[in-house]
Amino acid sequence: MRIAVLPGDGIGKEVVPVAVDVLQAVMPEAEYVYINVGNERFMREGTAMSEEDLDTIKKCDCVLFGAITSPPKKIYPSVILTLRRELDAYANVRPFKSSAISPYKVDFIIYRENSEDLYCGIEEVTDDQVLSTRKITRHASERIARKACSRPGLQKLTIVHKANVLRSCELFRDVCIGVAKKSGVPYEEMLVDAMAYNLIRKPSQFDTIVTTNLFGDILSDEAAALIGGLGLSPSANIGDRYALFEPVHGSAPDIAGRGIANPIAAVLSAKMLLEWAGYRAKAERVQEAVDHIISHGILTPDLGGKFKTEDVGLYIVKNLEST
Ligand code: ATP
Repeated sequence: MRIAVLPGDGIGKEVVPVAVDVLQAVMPEAEYVYINVGNERFMREGTAMSEEDLDTIKKCDCVLFGAITSPPKKIYPSVILTLRRELDAYANVRPFKSSAISPYKVDFIIYRENSEDLYCGIEEVTDDQVLSTRKITRHASERIARKACSRPGLQKLTIVHKANVLRSCELFRDVCIGVAKKSGVPYEEMLVDAMAYNLIRKPSQFDTIVTTNLFGDILSDEAAALIGGLGLSPSANIGDRYALFEPVHGSAPDIAGRGIANPIAAVLSAKMLLEWAGYRAKAERVQEAVDHIISHGILTPDLGGKFKTEDVGLYIVKNLEST
């Protein structure tokens, strides 16, 4: 397997090497192709990601991605949005499972539509007004709903929308209900504001959530807080041909360069890569190694610990080598 490794900016450059060490410990035969993309490259060379980079990435099987700092003004197209579009990675899969140190007991997955909504870049900008178009199509709604409904072991699907106000959400809801009925999946629907409330009030009631791009983006950060923070939250962007794995968090400029970023979200993103590639046993070993170090208090400062990014990585790899 050939994996494109794109650490990006800020803490991406600190947590992705740990995830690669973990992958190398369980899958030494894989090939790792490093590509430097992001805002720091843009500042240096005037390009955040080139056409050649994209060609190289498409010659790999999948991507391990860190994070990219957004420039203050949109002076170049977003690297992650370009990658999701170019790789047609339409399903953003974000699992939230409590660990020994999580403040709430939860175990659910958010399936976030990844290709349209307000992120499709259709904007009319004048000095006094900006119109941002929200694009929701039957095609994209159907494929994310199908992805969510095909989750192994699914117990209940929660379709999250704002159909009482937005016609675009009416389409999304109706399509999702149609797919759920056809798949024989038990479902409920919930307005996004009620969802934001219920995620805090009674988060254990959720199993599989499907929603549109922007709502999924916001709800995932809320969900990350339920399990202990962004430092613990991995994600996958899955398409029919390619997949890209990245932590939910961004480049965290406030802590970048200090060696204190939590690498677990990146490591668990690598675990999702292993699952996607069909290496279930290796993925399980990575999860067990992460659970082990968490329960032994080997934690970075965001979780109240005193360990450095590098130390956490070393302990995880050591644990993997001993199992
Ligand atoms: P960006 O502009 O790249 O999205 P951001 O700082 O706005 O970066 P995040 O990177 O998602 O957004 O970070 C939000 C907060 O969570 C920050 O205060 C950051 O320090 C903290 N945080 C995010 N990821 C981690 C991590 N892996 N370890 C420790 N703290 C983290």
